[in-house]
Parts: sequence; structure tokens; C-alpha cells
Amino acid sequence: MTEALAHGTRNFKVSEFACKCGRFDCQHYGIRQELIDALQKLRDLIGEAIFVNSGYRCPFWNKHEGGSKNSMHVKGLAADIWCEELTPEELKKFAEEIPEFANGGIGIYDWGIHVDVRGRRARWDYRTKKR
Ligand SMILES: [Zn+2]
Ligand SMILES: [Zn+2]
Repeated sequence: MTEALAHGTRNFKVSEFACKCGRFDCQHYGIRQELIDALQKLRDLIGEAIFVNSGYRCPFWNKHEGGSKNSMHVKGLAADIWCEELTPEELKKFAEEIPEFANGGIGIYDWGIHVDVRGRRARWDYRTKKR
């Protein structure tokens, strides 16, 4: 990795995006600043706290979590988020307002949404309870 380490933003600490594998040989802080910057825009738009379930994942942890082989989490470009005040559907609508996510990946789940800044559009709906 040649990219500079992310430094976080007003509402997000880099540690919130650290890999959770707990292995000593994991770099842990592989999250990319452009992802955190886009999340800060979303946070400012919503005006409510956003919680991060998963950010950067090393290949080992990604496999453990059942992530796809080309997961944007491994590249440090993705986060799984939820908001106490919003349903996943409402949160997705706000995410679509942020150009980096509109032109990136947004997946909707029962627990919240996945957002990433992959640079091209991708959408999926993995909710088990669809209305
Ligand atoms: Zn790890
Ligand atoms: Zn995800």
C-alpha cells in the first residue's frame, strides 16, 4: 500500500473502520480517506449519528465474515453502516444523494446498508424482509 494513512474526519475516527480480526500480522488501518470523506458528507446531510459495523477487512477476516473475493472492504473502500433514526431504505435514499456513493456501490440489508467508493455503479438488495 502506497496510499497515505487515513486521518478520519470530524465525526469519524479511523479506529471505527479498523479490521476486527485481532491478528498481529494484520495492518488493521487499511481504510481509505476518500471513503471516510464521503461518509462525513452523508453524516452532514442526515444530521444523525452513523454507526460503522465493518470497514476495512484484511483478506483473512473478509473470508471469515463471508465477504466476496473482490470485496471493497479488503481494498479499504467500503463500510457497512446503520443509523438509529433511519430505516435501511431511508438511509439508502440519503446515500444516493452523495456523488461518491451514487457512482459507487450501495447494498441494502435488514441491518442497514453497505456503501463503497469503487468508482462505478453497483446496487444490490439482500433484505430478507422485503416490503
Ligand atoms: Zn485483519
Ligand atoms: Zn459491506
